[in-house]
Amino acid sequence: MSNLGLHFFYFLIALMLVSFLWADLISWQTMPYFLVGVMIVAYFFQLWNINRLHDLLLKDDLIGRKRGLGLWREIYGLLEKKSKVLHQEISAAADQYDRFIQGVQASPNGLIMLDKMDRIQWCNKICREHFRIDPVRDTNQPVAFLLRHPDFVQYMQEADFSTPLQLDHMGESGHVMLRLQIIPYGESQKLLLSQDITAIKKNEAIRQDFVANVSHELRTPLTIMSGFLETIRDLPLSEEEKARYLDIMVTQSDRMLTLVDELLILTRLDSSPVSPKTRTVNLAEVFERLMTDARSLSKGRHIIILRASSHKYVLGSDSEIISAFGNLVNNAIRYSPEGGEILIDWSDLPDGGARFAVTDRGLGIAPEHIPRITERFYRVDLSRSRDTGGTGLGLAIVKHVAMRHQAELRIESQIGQGSTFEMVFVKDRLVDGA
Ligand code: ADP
Repeated sequence: MSNLGLHFFYFLIALMLVSFLWADLISWQTMPYFLVGVMIVAYFFQLWNINRLHDLLLKDDLIGRKRGLGLWREIYGLLEKKSKVLHQEISAAADQYDRFIQGVQASPNGLIMLDKMDRIQWCNKICREHFRIDPVRDTNQPVAFLLRHPDFVQYMQEADFSTPLQLDHMGESGHVMLRLQIIPYGESQKLLLSQDITAIKKNEAIRQDFVANVSHELRTPLTIMSGFLETIRDLPLSEEEKARYLDIMVTQSDRMLTLVDELLILTRLDSSPVSPKTRTVNLAEVFERLMTDARSLSKGRHIIILRASSHKYVLGSDSEIISAFGNLVNNAIRYSPEGGEILIDWSDLPDGGARFAVTDRGLGIAPEHIPRITERFYRVDLSRSRDTGGTGLGLAIVKHVAMRHQAELRIESQIGQGSTFEMVFVKDRLVDGA
């Protein structure tokens, strides 16, 4: 028997018993009135309970309402149970929604949800930076009203979203490059995803420039060499001429070797971890080698002075330090006229650090070039650099080595007066070498 049937059965039994009791104690004649009275009371009781349930449902106030009689008590109990489950499910869904929104908001990529009419339904905060779209103010605005880039308008009109779209000159600064991808979903809705690809594109451009530069640098000596080889092969040359051509070819092949060596050094610097502080570079030995190399490059044409007043040694990689110091001295010689004085100075600084400085009285560098001379293949005077065997990579190596040894590269120069290139080492990177 159903619950309702059972309760109705109990009610009838109770009614019969009470009616017979009424008849027995009071009178049989008044029993029908008594029954009608009981039915009216029961009717109003049910009405009251229905009304109460209606109120509680309206206020969503079913938890803790177990009061009531008979079947009503059970109904309230069941509703309370279901209401609790529902509340738990809602709060779990709300938590999940919050987490999802937090994740999307933290994303560096923009996300815009568009409805069937391409109106903005929702977007994350980064869209303000990418498109200057305000997540609150611009809700329900057609996206094409806010994003008026002609390429985007055409992309939306063509509605072929199989390939992403690249938009230049975006963002608040106007220097941002964005990659846009539209993903249709649901019933003609769309997801618009945006990614800032400025850094990726910049790296791509650097890489392309680098490959072009390397190819160009190798092409020149190779062209010269192949020209001379053809001449030697095809023309009857005297021994003297042959020897001269061979000398030129040796110079060109040396140039290629230097370039490849410096490229390998840069690659090694790029890919290896920062030099540990566990190894001490014996600067006394470094300076000895530096002076031998400098004298051999200068061939007595310059006055080279070494002043090492500091007794500190650098902690790091000796091959990197030799390469960096060597490049600075090498440049000072190559960019100084004959008879020019070059001062190599290793001295203490008041804060406990030390500086390695190379000062020359050579050509000097115009101020507009100084911020760029540490870039790979950047040269102020291309022909002088090439004529003296330069590759345009020396200062890029110096800057890299400085960074890896927590040192700062400082450049001071005046055109026609000379230059000072300084590597300033912090206290932490030095030990007493006395
Ligand atoms: P390079 O192999 O051409 O010397 P670097 O990277 O060593 O390449 O130097 C970059 C450019 O900076 C050089 O081409 C040169 O124009 C300039 N430069 C470097 N050192 C000096 C210096 N001591 N005096 C004048 N110009 C310099």
